[in-house]
Amino acid sequence: MSQPPIPSFDELTDTFLEPLITDLITALGEDVSREGLIQTPARVDRSLRFLTGGYGLTLEGVVNGALFQAEGAEMIVVKDVEFYSLCEHHLLPFFGRAHIAYVPEATILGLSKFARIVDLFARRLQVQERLTTQIADAVVQTLAPKGALVVTEASHLCMMMRGVQKQGSSTRIVTTRGVFKDDAQLRGEVLAALKP
Ligand code: ZN
Repeated sequence: MSQPPIPSFDELTDTFLEPLITDLITALGEDVSREGLIQTPARVDRSLRFLTGGYGLTLEGVVNGALFQAEGAEMIVVKDVEFYSLCEHHLLPFFGRAHIAYVPEATILGLSKFARIVDLFARRLQVQERLTTQIADAVVQTLAPKGALVVTEASHLCMMMRGVQKQGSSTRIVTTRGVFKDDAQLRGEVLAALKP
């Protein structure tokens, strides 16, 4: 028996956002027909779909077979991968950098793919903790390494613009798998190398 076709990401989101943004702007007390706002629902629609584009991607599609033999690499560290995400509590941006370290077993991944993996999970409604663990789990799932360590550092506009209003604060989250979880000395060395 054939399954009904699953609607694509674009089909799902194509028609819905613009009228919702119109309603949102109107509910805020604004006149959506004035010159500065008239194109805003369409712009926010495109912008939000870009910023949540991770929902339309898969890990397999992002990796796309860019796997290579490890050939003796002891540890690979990818530093300063910029990301921009939206906090799922307020739909406000949080943004910063991710650092990924792994000890390969048999395979390594093309370096540019780490930025794509980070975007795969950053371009969703997120919390920083889950973003960090999803990146680590993706590295483990893709490479089955001896260990993986992911650090994210981010500033959260929902903290900076409202609430506690701690402008300068940034949040650092560390997730470890495999040897980085078991070997405190190794973990300490890598974290020292990744100090901001
Ligand atoms: Zn928030």
